[in-house]
Amino acid sequence: MCNLLLSGNNQLILHSCTRTTMREWLIIYLIGLLIIPKVRADEGMWLVPLIQDLNMDRMQEMGLELEAEDIYSLDHPSLKDVIGALDYGGCTAEIISSDGLIITNHHCGEDEIQFHSSPEHDYLTNGFWAMSREEELPNPGKTISFVIRMENVTDKVLGMVHLEMTEAERETEIDKYSETLIGEAVEGTHYEAVVVPLYEGNEYCLVVLETFKDVRLVGAPPACIGRFGGDQDNWEWPRHNADFCLMRIYTGPDGTPAEYAPENIPYKPPLWLPISLTGYEQDDFSLVLGFPGRTDRYATSSGIREIKEIENRNRIKIRGKALDLMMEDMKSSDKVRIQYTAKYSRLSNYYKYSIGQNLSIDRLDVIGKRKSQEEQFTQWISADAAREEAFGDILNEINSVISERTMMENALSYLEEMFLLHKAVEIFDFATVAFPFFFQELGYASEQQEISVLTDRMKNRGDDFFRNYNPQTDKKIASAMMQLYARDVEPLYYPGLFSTIHKDFDGDIIKYIDHLYRKSIFTAPSRFEQFTEKPKFKKLMKDPAFMGSFSMYQTYQQILDEYEELDERYINARRNYVHALREMYPDSVFYPDANSTLRLSYGTVCDYLARDAVSYEYYTTLAGVMEKEDPENREFRVPEKLKRLFEEKNYQPYARNSTMRVCFLTNLDTTGGNSGSPVLNSRGELIGLNFDGNWESMSGDIIYEPALQRSICVDIRYVLFIIDKFAGAHHLIAEMDINGQR
Ligand code: GLU
Repeated sequence: MCNLLLSGNNQLILHSCTRTTMREWLIIYLIGLLIIPKVRADEGMWLVPLIQDLNMDRMQEMGLELEAEDIYSLDHPSLKDVIGALDYGGCTAEIISSDGLIITNHHCGEDEIQFHSSPEHDYLTNGFWAMSREEELPNPGKTISFVIRMENVTDKVLGMVHLEMTEAERETEIDKYSETLIGEAVEGTHYEAVVVPLYEGNEYCLVVLETFKDVRLVGAPPACIGRFGGDQDNWEWPRHNADFCLMRIYTGPDGTPAEYAPENIPYKPPLWLPISLTGYEQDDFSLVLGFPGRTDRYATSSGIREIKEIENRNRIKIRGKALDLMMEDMKSSDKVRIQYTAKYSRLSNYYKYSIGQNLSIDRLDVIGKRKSQEEQFTQWISADAAREEAFGDILNEINSVISERTMMENALSYLEEMFLLHKAVEIFDFATVAFPFFFQELGYASEQQEISVLTDRMKNRGDDFFRNYNPQTDKKIASAMMQLYARDVEPLYYPGLFSTIHKDFDGDIIKYIDHLYRKSIFTAPSRFEQFTEKPKFKKLMKDPAFMGSFSMYQTYQQILDEYEELDERYINARRNYVHALREMYPDSVFYPDANSTLRLSYGTVCDYLARDAVSYEYYTTLAGVMEKEDPENREFRVPEKLKRLFEEKNYQPYARNSTMRVCFLTNLDTTGGNSGSPVLNSRGELIGLNFDGNWESMSGDIIYEPALQRSICVDIRYVLFIIDKFAGAHHLIAEMDINGQR
């Protein structure tokens, strides 16, 4: 059921796979969804259309002054119209002015900031501020999507599905009905729609979206403010960074979404978020709306062990090595530093996450806790013969699939981390740019395209690629990765390029890598240009990067094919498991696992006891930035201007009692994808942006730990202070809707 396909724009994608662990990132909307029994007050990423029935009473009791209609309404503007998904499946951003100004995290705009940076215009280091609309910088490919509506379509999607169907048949049926529903939902509009599974495929939801395609960079603080603390502070509290950047949505002259064009105009949204200068105190109600990406709240104990021992362990090993090599080169050249900043952050973010998650899994005995839940589940099943008949084998089935697939999981995670998905090595992914041409020449393309169309695409991608590519860095990383792969993956899963190394290079990986980077079309702009001027099939057949890449995809496909039967069993068992759990706890309210759909979490501003005798305040201040300053450490440099503002206490109107708050904590239930999400007070005013989680609860995507789990937010007043006093971008402050003490 898993096939390699070319998408509409001829990008190579994996399609119609039923495999669930990490592979969903390869397929746009393949998402596993999970639930947990017994929901506590502050836990839960709630589906927004359901809050009236499920959460409003509790939220109002806790202090919320809004009505459900203010949050999600089909009849009048509501918060759902203000909170968008950047590159649907990426971060969250929200509208903060009547002229389409949006705010998100600095780490969510880092690609764009880097894209516009060069050693001459180093916006990463120095920050960027458009002082007029003309100076706002277009970002090719950047999008933001807003929810038009969400509808539970379970009955329609599962209407023709029956128990005797195989997983493949079931999936085909579901796809067919989803297509019809999507077609009906978008007919006659410029909207897009997706149908996503909820509760592990026990339910389905139609999401209709409006996507804007001209999103320009407006402002970003220097990295020493936006990313202050860098990797050392990442995923940890206390924090002292202004993790924000500003962008603006533009539309065509008629006000509807359009691709970038000079004549486009700023978007006129139906609503924008008011900003509060009043701040917050301990225990104040707060809520967050955003597009959390993925949680595994109902992984079985065996599933958690698999995450720990394969996914995380491999990632830590692979990325640790690749990051060290990357950093060596970034330190010795400004050009390489700029080229690799965003790549480095992308890899290091989940590198550290995996380290923290494995530590938390052990420290919090996450596997043990899940095992005792499974014991209760088993007892509940054995108490009733009908249950035994229906669900008696589910856990065994899940466990045995997981143990049968260990070697495959290992190989897949190496291929993905190193070459195909997270791309510690870049060259093999870039070489796929020639796949459409190659397939067409072989006669395998579904439709013939003009060669000029294919070469134009290759040239465009080449321009993007070479701008941020240093072959020497990639070569060093490739040598290290290939050696690790040879050492740690079963020979059964060596891609064909290993036979080439064996036959033509005496088994010497270094010799092969030398040859590849010296000769390949894909490692030098001049050779690539020559090729795209006159592409030749035979040249590709001889190209080491191209053939290497091709052999990796073949191996990947071979593993997925082997995996297919196991995967079907797994999906089936997991769906039944979730179904059984909902039966086991009929009085509990369940929320589906995160899947990049719009969710709401609510809770309070609050501190925490991190460990014995170590308790943390719920906010940090600018004094802490000065305390952490270390001119010798690039992650802790403080710009002179910020020091001056601190000495002068030039904070008004953004501070109370001469204390400039910087970041704060809430117990809101968030995960990746919530980055940039608005944190709102009880009146629905913006008080901060969510940007991170804390070290003590890094296993939070699996089990929510109420006493420990915190979301880290930047105080909106610090953001305004940086825009106003540090950057002098008063015109941006002027277009915002700011309430409270001014
Ligand atoms: N730790 C991340 C960062 O600040 C953000 C959190 C996430 O990706 O979920 O880079």
